[in-house]
Amino acid sequence: MSKQKSGQFVVPGDRLGVIEEFVPGSGTYEENGIIYSLATGQALVDILSKQVSIFPKTRFLAVPKVGSIVIGQVRDAQSKTAAVRIFQIDKYPLSGFFTGILHVSDVSLRYVETMYHVCKPGDIIRAKVVSDKNRTFHLSTKEPNLGVIYAFCSRCGDVLNFGRVEMRCLRCGNIETRKSAQDYGKGELA
Ligand SMILES: [Zn+2]
Repeated sequence: MSKQKSGQFVVPGDRLGVIEEFVPGSGTYEENGIIYSLATGQALVDILSKQVSIFPKTRFLAVPKVGSIVIGQVRDAQSKTAAVRIFQIDKYPLSGFFTGILHVSDVSLRYVETMYHVCKPGDIIRAKVVSDKNRTFHLSTKEPNLGVIYAFCSRCGDVLNFGRVEMRCLRCGNIETRKSAQDYGKGELA
């Protein structure tokens, strides 16, 4: 980031510069010598100290932590993992987003063979952050209040009706499988 770019609007994960040029300050993190933004806000550089920091746009500098309950939308689901775009942490909606990873071994206390029985892209899911190693937010849905809270029919896109294992589409009759939260479909996000 050059001096002219000080004050620019950034979102989490934006590259701000390298440690040879700048000192990472609040609202930033450094990985492999590169400084990134942790928050949505304005990037500021102190001319004397060369410290780059983020003045957050939101009052809370919400970042997922181990133990946080997060809400997100499933972006991608493979056999063993699903990628979740986190848009809410505990009760705080985010102006930016973080990506979380749910592995099939963290879905349920029982053995789950494939993520295709857990969630599909587009579903809204509630999960707990169990690890943030290497800035990757690893998620778990092992508790009864965790799992899919809204699911959409993969045939017609309508919201699926709740069932403990099988979810039925009332519009087209399609039956699908999810790992749903206890309060599926109740509209509670946190
Ligand atoms: Zn349907």
